[in-house]
Amino acid sequence: MLRSAILAAARSSKIERLVGTAPLSRSVVRRYVAGETTADALAAARALAADGLLSTLDYLGEDTLDMAQAEFTRDEYLRLLQALKEEGLAETTEVSVKLSALGQDIDPEAAYRHASEICESAAKAETTVTVDMEDHTRTDSTLEILGRLRANFPDTGAVLQSYLRRTEDDCKDLSKEGSRVRLCKGAYKEPESVAYQGKLDVDRSYVRCINALMAGEGYPMLATHDPRLVEIGIDRAKWFDRDKDSFEFQMLYGIRPEEQLRLAAEGYRVRCYVPYGDQWYGYLMRRLAERPANVSFFARSLVSR
Ligand code: FAD
Repeated sequence: MLRSAILAAARSSKIERLVGTAPLSRSVVRRYVAGETTADALAAARALAADGLLSTLDYLGEDTLDMAQAEFTRDEYLRLLQALKEEGLAETTEVSVKLSALGQDIDPEAAYRHASEICESAAKAETTVTVDMEDHTRTDSTLEILGRLRANFPDTGAVLQSYLRRTEDDCKDLSKEGSRVRLCKGAYKEPESVAYQGKLDVDRSYVRCINALMAGEGYPMLATHDPRLVEIGIDRAKWFDRDKDSFEFQMLYGIRPEEQLRLAAEGYRVRCYVPYGDQWYGYLMRRLAERPANVSFFARSLVSR
């Protein structure tokens, strides 16, 4: 119930304005967001690399209906990738992009072109791009664009969400040699017709998807903070006789950081998803929805100075 209300608020520009103008405690945003500038993102990637962690950088923004904004987002990724190359960070750091921030809702063809330019720049920098997955109304369009990107840049990563009923089949389709697939539970409010509603069903689906990805020939990226699913991931990797470098775990910046370090110390590849930029509202609300215990902390910060 609370999760649904917070996710509904995540799409409300009225509430966004309210939150944006409130004396929001900086520490709440900073818990989940690395900072506002390219330099902040690079500093976070550098610090994570020093701790033995990989990272994927996300320039925050989504749902744009303004082509100039979409082009600005593309340009920020091009600058970021150039900087990753120049600063020697490309070996440990890739980027994650949302097609809706690149103009998918205005002109999917333009979003494809922008994503393609970002993939080209990533290839020059010798790193990779993962295309984030958004709500179910965009799944087909996103997978279609991803397929076209992969024709030229085969290491472009996909994201699949275990809460969608279709995802086990998508995992089987995508778990081909060379294919990188991030598996997450899914962060949006979705109807019962397309998505499992209960935690148990979503978790069971996640396990079936781990099996499909680990059994396949691709590179699974298990994006979860759920301790049981992490253990099952480790178990299934052993069952399918996979080396530790043939898959990775992924977690979000600021969430279970000790667990990220523990897994890395045990020799697993661990990638931290690092968001940055000033368009943090939708991202922050989805993180709050995942953990309603955070809401009272957040609400207090809205009124504190
Ligand atoms: P949960 O059952 O939600 O959480 C398990 C445990 O993790 C909790 O008990 C708690 O201890 C901890 N935890 C989880 N969330 C929080 C939090 N916000 N604050 C504090 N503790 C927390 N979703 C998409 O829809 N599309 C994407 O492209 C996408 N990319 C992602 C990339 C990465 C690297 C990760 C890690 C997640 C991504 N997600 C994406 C979000 C994902 O779908 C889930 O919403 C999110 O990861 C929470 O699910 P969980 O697997 O951690 O399990």
